[in-house]
Amino acid sequence: MPIYEYKCRSCGEISSYLIRFTPLIKKLVCFYCSSKYLNKVMSMFTHHKSNISNFESSLSNVDKTMNYYQTPKNIGKNVEETFEKYNLEIPKSIKETISSARQGELPPQIDL
Ligand SMILES: [Zn+2]
Repeated sequence: MPIYEYKCRSCGEISSYLIRFTPLIKKLVCFYCSSKYLNKVMSMFTHHKSNISNFESSLSNVDKTMNYYQTPKNIGKNVEETFEKYNLEIPKSIKETISSARQGELPPQIDL
């Protein structure tokens, strides 16, 4: 379900809404002051989603991608960079998967 974030033009607070039916957007009011004057802001959710589709479109160049993964240190690099970008700690199990993949052991569930 899409998450929409709106910044209130009256009090400046940001309210987040889970919206199933887009016509309901017109009825939204600020959580804090009930103002109807809201500006849509880019939420983390939408932002993250657009990163995924950019990554997928970059995979359309299969040769380039295969060459990229021929270099062991590039395996998992994208994952590490993504965690770093959002200031998140990489879970231990993911770190282990990346380090064994770099030693040539691809986990069976990864389908290149
Ligand atoms: Zn407000």
